[in-house]
Amino acid sequence: MAEYDYDVLVIGSGPGGYVAAIRAAQLGLRTACVESRETLGGTCLNVGCIPSKAMLHASEYFDAAANGAMAKMGIKVTPELDLPTMHAQRQDAVKQLTGGIEYLFKKNKVTWLKGRGAFVDAHTVQVGEQAVTAKDIVIATGSSVTALPGVTIDQKVIVDSTGALELARVPEHLVVIGGGVIGLELGSVWRRLGAKVTVVEYLDQILPGFDGDVRKESNKIFKKQGLEFKLSTKVTAVAVNGDKATLTVEPAAGGAPETIEADVVLVSIGRRPNTDGLALEKAGLATNQRGQIEIDHSFKTSVAGIWAIGDVVPGPMLAHKAEDEGIAVADNIAGRTGIVNHDVIPSVVYTWPEIAGVGLTEEAARETGSEIKVGKFPMLGNSRAKTNHEPDGFVKIIADAKSDRVLGVWCIASVGGTMIAQAAQAMEFGATSEDIAYTCHAHPTHSEAIKEAAMAVQGKPIHI
Ligand SMILES: Cc1cc2nc3c(=O)[nH]c(=O)nc-3n(C[C@H](O)[C@H](O)[C@H](O)COP(=O)(O)OP(=O)(O)OC[C@H]3O[C@@H](n4cnc5c(N)ncnc54)[C@H](O)[C@@H]3O)c2cc1C
Repeated sequence: MAEYDYDVLVIGSGPGGYVAAIRAAQLGLRTACVESRETLGGTCLNVGCIPSKAMLHASEYFDAAANGAMAKMGIKVTPELDLPTMHAQRQDAVKQLTGGIEYLFKKNKVTWLKGRGAFVDAHTVQVGEQAVTAKDIVIATGSSVTALPGVTIDQKVIVDSTGALELARVPEHLVVIGGGVIGLELGSVWRRLGAKVTVVEYLDQILPGFDGDVRKESNKIFKKQGLEFKLSTKVTAVAVNGDKATLTVEPAAGGAPETIEADVVLVSIGRRPNTDGLALEKAGLATNQRGQIEIDHSFKTSVAGIWAIGDVVPGPMLAHKAEDEGIAVADNIAGRTGIVNHDVIPSVVYTWPEIAGVGLTEEAARETGSEIKVGKFPMLGNSRAKTNHEPDGFVKIIADAKSDRVLGVWCIASVGGTMIAQAAQAMEFGATSEDIAYTCHAHPTHSEAIKEAAMAVQGKPIHI
């Protein structure tokens, strides 16, 4: 009889956990995955990436019809919003994709243990009535919404990202607390569907962590679209009266407070790692000051046989980062070499236009002390973007001045999320800006702007 019930037990079935479980099973390991939700797929498939993109995609169509973009191309329509159908197609996307993971578990012989997992010791996890043992355990419990002290989420007047995906009617005034990726994406959805949207951000600029030029330019574009911003502003109180809320805000640096009336408030100030109830101490583990589980480069925690990946460990909270870590951790458990290059993890904001980046920002590249060269190319100079009436945005490439090696690529473009993949691949291969400039790009495509930005690093773009 085997010493353990399973070779590998994964706790959490988000993009980190389900990918780790499938890869472990593919490598011949007896694998189970513990998940407490009704469906597999974690935050990403149930209440994150997928449903938000379903609402962004649908609202983009509505906006194009309502704001005259379609009329400009000779298509005259007066759109009528059918919000229940829009929500139904969101729910359908989630159902199909979460069901797809269940199918993949069956196909790969991964056992789904339904329930909450809590450590009993370093090789045993309690799931409901069952104590399950495994040689290796992967913690992939993800993250949850960070609460704003003193503000209670009721999912009606004060909502988090999950509530903001499901609003039953278009709010008259939506106030978004936090100008990060999730706040801007969901704020854009409801602005497109007719809400007045105000974004309150503590910092002096939106999109922390993004390149400075990108942050400034995207702020201008969002303003043009009708989003209102209160930057360098902190929310000090939110009071709910019936179906309305009153926010008290004041300058971050101090000053006279003012109030804002809203009928929905979205709290999107960040996410925190999920470790509550895991009984980490019973396995000999603890979290760091940020509540994360520390790991080494191979995803090992400080306890032999326990590994951790995804949002619960340090690094950007992104689904594709979690997925790549899922593959790598399974490879490492199976005795292979699993590596994730954390210097090349793309970030995308799925607004209109999309905002994307990979590698160092210009600010971070300058901070390294090395000399850098920067090439920029506006989407206005790109024939496809111009033809499609998508003039906003640019591509920016940051390269080392001596070696010409590409250090970072940033773009604002309608299909920026797709364009950034080639930049990530180039950087994985250690490309120079010259390599990109001399790579033949199909015409007419938005991606030609990446080639032109690379040529701009050498000071010689053609179309500007
Ligand atoms: C609105 C929104 C939009 C987003 N959009 C994007 C996007 O477009 N692109 C992107 O890359 N990222 C996006 N993200 C972030 C992305 O969802 C996360 O980075 C990703 O889901 C993290 O994956 P994970 O596997 O680490 O954890 P999660 O997806 O959070 O999954 C963890 C799972 O573990 C389960 N769990 C936790 N504790 C236990 C326990 N003790 N026992 C059993 N089960 C447990 C949870 O129920 C959950 O299902 C978005 C997030 C939100 C909220």
